[in-house]
Amino acid sequence: MFTNFKKNLGQNFLRDKYYLNKIIDCSSFNIHSNLLEIGPGDGALTEYLNYKSKSLTLVEIDKDLIRILSKKFELNKNLILKHIDFLKLNLSEVKKDNLFIFGNLPYNASSQIILKILESDVVYSECIFLIQKELALRFAPEYRKSTKLSMQTKLLANIEILFDVPNTAFEPVPEVTSSVIKITKDRKYIDNSIDYLKFKKILQVCFSHPRKKILFPLKKIFSTIPSFSFSLDKRPEELIINDYLEILNKYGKQI
Ligand code: SAM
Repeated sequence: MFTNFKKNLGQNFLRDKYYLNKIIDCSSFNIHSNLLEIGPGDGALTEYLNYKSKSLTLVEIDKDLIRILSKKFELNKNLILKHIDFLKLNLSEVKKDNLFIFGNLPYNASSQIILKILESDVVYSECIFLIQKELALRFAPEYRKSTKLSMQTKLLANIEILFDVPNTAFEPVPEVTSSVIKITKDRKYIDNSIDYLKFKKILQVCFSHPRKKILFPLKKIFSTIPSFSFSLDKRPEELIINDYLEILNKYGKQI
């Protein structure tokens, strides 16, 4: 078993079989689905995925783990191992029908990996990711609070937290709790009239001082504040997606 864990690659391996099973059970893929696993590590989740599907691609950055995975699995055209940084991977290589993406993601690159997939044109059926709970709550905040990340990703997908995984399920044991999230593509809030890059810039300004009233960042965006359907006394976290789309819309009309 692999023990030479590299902290800089976020290597906390999920060892608890209960949670490995639970991750598999919460997904709706079947034997005909195309699966992609990001950061397979030494192949704990991979074993389950490989057993339950005919087509699996693994993307791993660490050459020591590539060596272990090559020995552990019989690689062929249905079980492909790619030695590459996922952030540098050309996603056209993984464009497939009926695609399900899995990963116990490295904590230091989780949000970049998720945004790379969400912002791409890859058509996935579902992503199931294990990430730090704190980050999961930024993607899918509780109590109807908004965050910059939740508003940004709301345009691209639906993200829900399924369950938590205690730190004792991992080796080495991290300091924090993790959560399993499910992502499904949902572009109901975005159409051709929406400039996503401009939307991101507006969010950046609005959430730069989360404790101040929304009037404060709006003064930086508009030379004259237009009338809005929401109260300008609200804080950025109290605004919902339609409020931010209204800001974008009125910003577009200003210039
Ligand atoms: N899936 C394994 C498990 O659950 O036991 C390992 C999960 S570990 C948290 C993260 C894995 O992602 C490690 O195998 C690490 O080497 C790999 N990794 C880290 N950064 C990566 C990147 N940019 N691209 C691909 N793999 C990466």
